[in-house]
Amino acid sequence: MNCEICGREIRGKGFRVVVEGSEVTVCASCRQYGSEKPSTVTQPGFRKVVLKKRKPYSTKIEFTEEMLENYHLIVRREREKRGWSQEQLAKKIQEKESLIKKIENAEIVPEPEVVEKLEKLFGIRLREKVPEVKVELGRSKLTPTLGDVVVVRRKKK
Ligand SMILES: [Zn+2]
Repeated sequence: MNCEICGREIRGKGFRVVVEGSEVTVCASCRQYGSEKPSTVTQPGFRKVVLKKRKPYSTKIEFTEEMLENYHLIVRREREKRGWSQEQLAKKIQEKESLIKKIENAEIVPEPEVVEKLEKLFGIRLREKVPEVKVELGRSKLTPTLGDVVVVRRKKK
């Protein structure tokens, strides 16, 4: 049995904890990153990461921006709401019409600068902040080996 957070072998029977709404079996040192099973009743789709911070130096939460899954539908909706053609929208943000087409068909994920222009133009958000939990298991902090740094990311549903 290996820890589902750091991947190390668990001595003993491990701990059942809830991380991001899913139940996992983890080792004693990763136990702190989840909540004890009975205390967390998570609803489906509940996104908050429940963390117990005991060693502040070893856990970092960073926020990364991710595109919303339906960004292309949002772009299309906002454009159509205003009665613009793809060409008109392209002109407004000084991009090619073909780019707008690809964005709306979800063929490409637009560059951050394009996303920004669209967000500004429509007054909407196409990205969301996603917490990224970086766990540093501080055995040898100077020479980290594989497995010492674990990144737990929320999986898209
Ligand atoms: Zn572990």
